[in-house]
Amino acid sequence: MRPNTMNKYGAVLDDIGMESMLHKLMEDFIRHISRVFFADVGGYSHDSHHGFVVQYGLNRDVELGFHVDDSEVTLNVCLGKQFSGGELFFRGVRCDKHVHNEALPEEIFEYSHVPGHAIIHRGRHRHGARPTTAGSRVNLLLWCRSAVFRELKKHNNGYASWCGDCQREKRERLIQAVSEKRRRCLGRGWFMIR
Ligand SMILES: [Zn+2]
Repeated sequence: MRPNTMNKYGAVLDDIGMESMLHKLMEDFIRHISRVFFADVGGYSHDSHHGFVVQYGLNRDVELGFHVDDSEVTLNVCLGKQFSGGELFFRGVRCDKHVHNEALPEEIFEYSHVPGHAIIHRGRHRHGARPTTAGSRVNLLLWCRSAVFRELKKHNNGYASWCGDCQREKRERLIQAVSEKRRRCLGRGWFMIR
């Protein structure tokens, strides 16, 4: 079975006896980090996962297009071996509605893998992997999911607190509302102080 819909080479670790170990890694480690850094996307409430490895290099996948993960929080561990290229590029966190919008300059971020090091990010943080130009690269991915977060998201049709564009729209509407109110108050010449 393919590790996910985009990668061809690798394996689903949950299918080969590592499911409970990876679940424990999520419960004992990722959830605590997530509670502090990713409280807006489920925080400590992760209750399921998808764990897999992906292989890049000659005769394997070369690169990975721009995408979001089917996760609330993703752990991405570089297992090795020796390689060139394969950098991750990030372009801001977006909800479904804003997923195709442009990134702002301050949202452009690149990360070079180092064997033995991991990166943790929101699943909705848009990203991709540059071509692995030489050698072989293997990464372990753990997609952590929260049923509670997904259920709450269905009932929230307003602004996503974790989406860069939702937050921008919210700020713009607030500024508009304040200046409208100000205009009306100045027009009639008096203010109500509450
Ligand atoms: Zn949004």
